[in-house]
Order: sequence, then C-alpha cells, then structure tokens
Amino acid sequence: MRCDRCDQDAVIDQPYQHAHLCESHFGDSVVERTRRELHRQVPRFRGGTIAIALSGGKDSAVALTLTQQYFGARPNVHLVALSVDEGISGYRPATLESAGELTRRLGVEHRIVRFSDAYGTTTEQSLRTLPGTIPCAYCGVWRRQLLNRAARDLSADLLVLGFNLDDLAQTVLMNLARGDLDRLSRMAPHRSRQPGLIPRIAPLAQIPEREVFLYARLRGLPFDHGECPHARAAARNVFREVVWQLEEAMPGTRHALLRTQERLAPLLTGPVGVGTAERCRDCGEPSTGTLCRACVFLSAARNPIVMAAASAPP
Ligand code: SF4
Ligand SMILES: [Zn+2]
Ligand SMILES: [Zn+2]
Repeated sequence: MRCDRCDQDAVIDQPYQHAHLCESHFGDSVVERTRRELHRQVPRFRGGTIAIALSGGKDSAVALTLTQQYFGARPNVHLVALSVDEGISGYRPATLESAGELTRRLGVEHRIVRFSDAYGTTTEQSLRTLPGTIPCAYCGVWRRQLLNRAARDLSADLLVLGFNLDDLAQTVLMNLARGDLDRLSRMAPHRSRQPGLIPRIAPLAQIPEREVFLYARLRGLPFDHGECPHARAAARNVFREVVWQLEEAMPGTRHALLRTQERLAPLLTGPVGVGTAERCRDCGEPSTGTLCRACVFLSAARNPIVMAAASAPP
C-alpha cells in the first residue's frame, strides 16, 4: 500500500479517515494532531510550570516528547516529569528506569513520588490488607491523588496526562454505562481551575493507541513494554474490548465518543458536575464527599479486621 501523500510505502492505515501514510507523513500527522490538540486545550498559555505524568510506558513517553517539542525552548515554560512508584515489584522498577532514561535524553527534570512515602503502604502490601478488592480500584485513586498533590507542590499550572484516543473513548463509555455523569463531566481536558486541583490535559486525545505505539517505536523513544501484573483484573478491559469491536465495525466510533463527552460536559456542571468539589475531612484534598476515595481505601487498608468483620456472614 502506498502513502496517500507521496510515493513511499505506507506504514499505517487509518480507517477512521480512509488514509494510508508513510513513515515521514505519519510522523508529521502525529505531531500536527498533537499540536492542534495542545493549542485547543491550552489556547493562551502565558508561561509557568507544566508537570507531565510519566509512567515509563509508550503513551506518557510520547506525551512528554511532543509537549516538550510544542513548547520548544520557551524560557518561561518549565517542564517537570512526575513518576509514581506504587510499589509493584517486577513491573514498576523497569518502567521507572525507562522514564529516567527518557528524561535524561530530553534534559527534563524528573521527580519520583512513592505510595510508601505518601500513604505508608503500597499497592502490593494492600493486596494483603484489601483482599477481594480489585487493586486498580485503590491504586488508580491513590495515583491520581498523588500526581495532583505532587503537581500542586510544584505550583504547576497544568498536569499533562498520556491518555490516548482509545483510553478516553473507553472512559467515556465506562462512565456512560455506569450512569456516572459526575465523572463524565470531570474528564480531562479541563478548561477551568478547581480549588486544589491542577487542570489536567491530554495532548494525545486524537491519537489512537496503536499510532502512539508506532510513533514511539519509529522515534526510538525509550519506553517499557511491560504490563502491570494486576491489570487483567481491571474493569476497563471489558470496555477496551467493546470499543475495539465498535471501532472495527464502525471506524470513527472513538472520535464520536469523545465528541459526545465534550458536548455533554458543559451541560453537566452544577449539582452533579465539576462545581461540587469539597475538602476531605481527613486529608484536606479535594473531594466530592466528606471523605475522599483515597482516604476511604486507606482507612480500609489500615483496618483489615474491621473490613473482615464487616464482610463476615451474620
Ligand atoms: S494496572 Fe491497576 S494495579 Fe497496576 S499500576 Fe495500573 S492501576 Fe495500579
Ligand atoms: Zn508519504
Ligand atoms: Zn482524604
């Protein structure tokens, strides 16, 4: 198959826009879509600190590389990569190594924050104290909170996340399927600033997962291919499969799901939406209830006996 824009061989097909692109035009198209997305999500960035969540996987590696490329050498923009160590042996150490290699190559400051320091426990330790709970439930909540806290400590103006088009389409469908309009309205990218919350943006929102992977490979970016050993239990897997099947049958479905969220979100602010943030009674972090979800899981992890008694048959 030939590239649609020149006579080179195509390296990728894009059924959602009936296109085939060679390596060079594919690279240009990823950069251009990301550039447009950054311009749309952050139309008037006057300078400041931008934190980038860097897991060491392909998505955040590409997000960091292209964010740095977009802001170029602007002296008034300071980039800091943030990695979270959840304490998952056999997985996280290798990804942190890749994250370190990439930041050294790009010359970007790199900070690592750890569950063990922030919460006094790790995902692995909590497997024992929270048996029967899917690890991603608490691990994801703690990671989001810790990233926000670390970005806030840096006085960051933005927090860049590596979510690709597939991730976001899955999240839209997941929130719709659960009837969770609150979370649907709070999805990144954020246009406004909520007290205590660093606005999150997603520069790769228009790039499908397999294109992110291909771009990272073609650019020779260091990233880790490993998968978390607990990922298979995640509820997201069902939605990944469904979105994939929908996209196969009806190319463009992922883009349509994103447009749906973007059109709905402004209608959902108010009683169920982004305007409801309070402070957690225990940790003071932004919360939609008296206790934030991170503290709910933490207190359960610290009181396994209470949990066991509560779940024991009468
Ligand atoms: S897959 Fe789940 S348990 Fe593993 S790092 Fe991600 S959220 Fe944590
Ligand atoms: Zn070409
Ligand atoms: Zn809390």
